[in-house]
Amino acid sequence: MDIKYVPTICPYCGVGCGMNLVVKDKKVVGVEPWKRNPVNEGKLCPKGNFCYEIIHRDDRLTTPLIKENGEFREATWDEAYDLITSKLGAYDPKEIGFFCCARSPNENIYVNQKFARIVIGTHNIDHCARLCHGPTVAGLAASFGSGAMTNSYASFEDADLIFSIGANSLEAHPLVGRRLLRAKMNGAYFIVADPRYTPTAKHANQYVPFKTGTDVALINAMMNVIISEGLEDKKFIEERTKNYEKLKEVVAKYTPEKVEEITQVPAETIRDIAIKYAKADKAAIVYSLGITEHSHGVDNVMQTANLAMLTGNIGRLGTGVNPLRGQNNVQGACDMGALPTDYPGYRKVVDKDIMEDITCSWGCSDLKCEPGLKIPEMIDAAAKGDLKVLYVTGEDPVISDPDTHHVEEALNNLDFFVVQDIFMTDTAKFADVVLPAACWAEQEGTFTNGERRVQLIRKAVDAPGESKVDWEIFCDLAKRMGADPKMFTYESAQDIFEEVRTVTPQYAGMNRERLERPEALHWPCPSEDHPGTAMMHVEKFAHPDGLGIFMPLEEQGPMETPDEEYPLILTTTRLLFHYHAAMTRRAPTLDREVPTGYVEINTEDAAELGIANKEKVKVKSRRGEIEITARVTPDIMKGIVNIPMHFRECSANILTNAAAIDPKSGMPEYKACAVAISKM
Ligand code: SF4
Repeated sequence: MDIKYVPTICPYCGVGCGMNLVVKDKKVVGVEPWKRNPVNEGKLCPKGNFCYEIIHRDDRLTTPLIKENGEFREATWDEAYDLITSKLGAYDPKEIGFFCCARSPNENIYVNQKFARIVIGTHNIDHCARLCHGPTVAGLAASFGSGAMTNSYASFEDADLIFSIGANSLEAHPLVGRRLLRAKMNGAYFIVADPRYTPTAKHANQYVPFKTGTDVALINAMMNVIISEGLEDKKFIEERTKNYEKLKEVVAKYTPEKVEEITQVPAETIRDIAIKYAKADKAAIVYSLGITEHSHGVDNVMQTANLAMLTGNIGRLGTGVNPLRGQNNVQGACDMGALPTDYPGYRKVVDKDIMEDITCSWGCSDLKCEPGLKIPEMIDAAAKGDLKVLYVTGEDPVISDPDTHHVEEALNNLDFFVVQDIFMTDTAKFADVVLPAACWAEQEGTFTNGERRVQLIRKAVDAPGESKVDWEIFCDLAKRMGADPKMFTYESAQDIFEEVRTVTPQYAGMNRERLERPEALHWPCPSEDHPGTAMMHVEKFAHPDGLGIFMPLEEQGPMETPDEEYPLILTTTRLLFHYHAAMTRRAPTLDREVPTGYVEINTEDAAELGIANKEKVKVKSRRGEIEITARVTPDIMKGIVNIPMHFRECSANILTNAAAIDPKSGMPEYKACAVAISKM
């Protein structure tokens, strides 16, 4: 029997678990955990275990499609390329935008942003970090000088205390959740702060429910207690930070009693968790989208950095500020420059010296020094008619972006729309041209996980039909549009990675031989003799002066608050059995586990509204309404309701608010909008 095992990396969340694809007769027939991979230590969660079920589905896209008279027809690559190049060449660069794919390997993303910048001449390129961890990139960069997870996953196991806020890791990042539980079994005290009594919260030593969107106040009160009790790390503050006096001044206003009114957390509980956090020798902070997906997401992120610096919990094993990243390669997409503000390696597009350095490396003429549009700005510009052409790779904004009706209005308003994907997604249905792409099991490359570890992915099977790898498509288009072939000719993904190393200082030392080793490398890895950096900020922060910056912050709360018409706050979540929509809902085993969505509503709220468990209800916001089944539970705070984000038939994003945007990062406020629920 012809069976082979191809080591690669899970295509779903940012944990980046290693797996072997089991290949029989040129088909992937199963998955086995990759036992030597240090990330997941021979385990996978359900999503990883059944990821192979989508690879050979009959509904994979296999040929280019062109829409004519409202219907798609099969087309040749030549026809599709001719149409795309004629349209891309007919518009001003500022009227063209790109959504990049954060599930795609680094090499694809790198070539995509290079194509947008050199061939089209636009920095209108962004990806889904804008909608998940954009505030992490902006917030941690402002506080520490680098916008990434400070420690490694393994570091959690050295912690004496873990403070998890806005992260349901056992469902959203299960193999990190497993490590947190093991840390607890080894003696770490585990505190979970969340408006929902999540599966993760159920395993905590202490669960702290708090009102959605009041993170800044909660952490200010914790810092107020720590300073009042004299538990701040004076030596660390003096030697490693600046701006402490301003922080102290703001924090002094946030007494636990005052913050109890804002957060609904009893003052005594705030004192208790603050003292426990400060007294732990090694305390780690873990957070995820519960912190970031707010109109003040950057502030929330900077608060976690303030708390860690105040107590000297940074730069040591078992400490740090640890965002759990969403997509498998969202860290890599940021690193590769799929951002309207940054070239690869977080080098700013507004800096003329950097632009000159990049153009010298790429061998192209001058590039613009103004930032491009972020995803929400591109959607708004399309709705207004200012952005006329959009090219979306591997993203499904009709399901995943806020305010679906607004997204649909924007897509309908485009002059020309290209989607490159593996399935006919809800978004692809709006396209003028759909291009069939290879999935992760059908190509070589690298993914960078949430702890900055760069790992190889390997080709297990051929892509179906005429599908192509993303970077090949962008290179074909570039050459047809007259780009110097030298700039877009690569023999392999490895060729591209070698170029990535020359323009991305964090990746410079990562040669192929080193990446082949199972432990792989964490960036920054600036030279081939550098061991990589599993833990950042050990002796100094990444700012030029080496100091961390305290950011004094005032509580602002969500932009849309409950009122008589819309008396409840909606939050959204990810489930254990689903990732977004297009992939896991096509995996029969996963879809069978949770076949459709529901709205969680507190038992008392349900009683007041006369709503019974499993009853069909209508949920309405200022943007739209959906019909959905009620799940009545005491596991969510009164006044808050929750809808998982994966289900198009009752899509949470019909309700969410695209107008409430974090001014510091462009993040829409997915985690708090006002809704009303009524019986059907
Ligand atoms: Fe690991 Fe995340 Fe994949 Fe689960 S979904 S197997 S935790 S990478």
